[in-house]
Amino acid sequence: MQIAIDGPAGVGKSTLAKALASHYGMIYLDTGAMYRGVALLASREGIAPEEGAAMDALLGAMDLNFREHDGKKSLYNHDEDLETAIRQPEIAKIVSAYASLGSVRQAMTAQQQRIAAKNDVVMDGRDIGTVVLPHADYKFFISASVQERARRRYLELEEKGIAQNFDELVKDLAERDRKDQTRAIAPLKKAEDAILIDTDHLDAQGVLEKIIEIISK
Ligand code: C5P
Repeated sequence: MQIAIDGPAGVGKSTLAKALASHYGMIYLDTGAMYRGVALLASREGIAPEEGAAMDALLGAMDLNFREHDGKKSLYNHDEDLETAIRQPEIAKIVSAYASLGSVRQAMTAQQQRIAAKNDVVMDGRDIGTVVLPHADYKFFISASVQERARRRYLELEEKGIAQNFDELVKDLAERDRKDQTRAIAPLKKAEDAILIDTDHLDAQGVLEKIIEIISK
């Protein structure tokens, strides 16, 4: 079985996808983590998105993989744990530029499809229902206003003791969505056959229950 979850930044896709994977005993694949991994490794090497040959060499040398410790999944490149580094705000700011490259998308999509061919998966991202898993059994597009998404992100960061400027969060989320929606290859958009779930007035548990109800019907 394949479940595709798409939607804008900070809408709660990963919380939902993890919960669905655990409910149905499926593998969860966080495709955003992979794009973050590419952006981190490129920026560490000082490779700009325009540097095609250097990007190709980087993509050829990297080995992105997920490993699980104490029930928590982390992104690795070869044997290096990248999980903390890819979640930093600086990476969120630069990831869309790398994710818009055809070479990057081709490599990531191929790897995601290889994993889906061997496992039952819940995958979340921007192009899962449209490009990566066009024949998924279930497709959902999760939405919420940018204000609501910034509010959730603010509370999440506050809980971790990280102070953030609310207006800055709104601006960053809106800018990342704009870049993801307007890129030429595999832009963020709802697949025609995806079910739209607006979560402005639903909490995480409410969204999960709604989706399980739809699937069980
Ligand atoms: O989901 P997350 O916010 O971690 O994704 C980070 C970035 O990776 C997105 O803003 C987008 O640029 C890119 N991405 C993508 N396609 C996906 C998943 C993520 O382009 N399937």
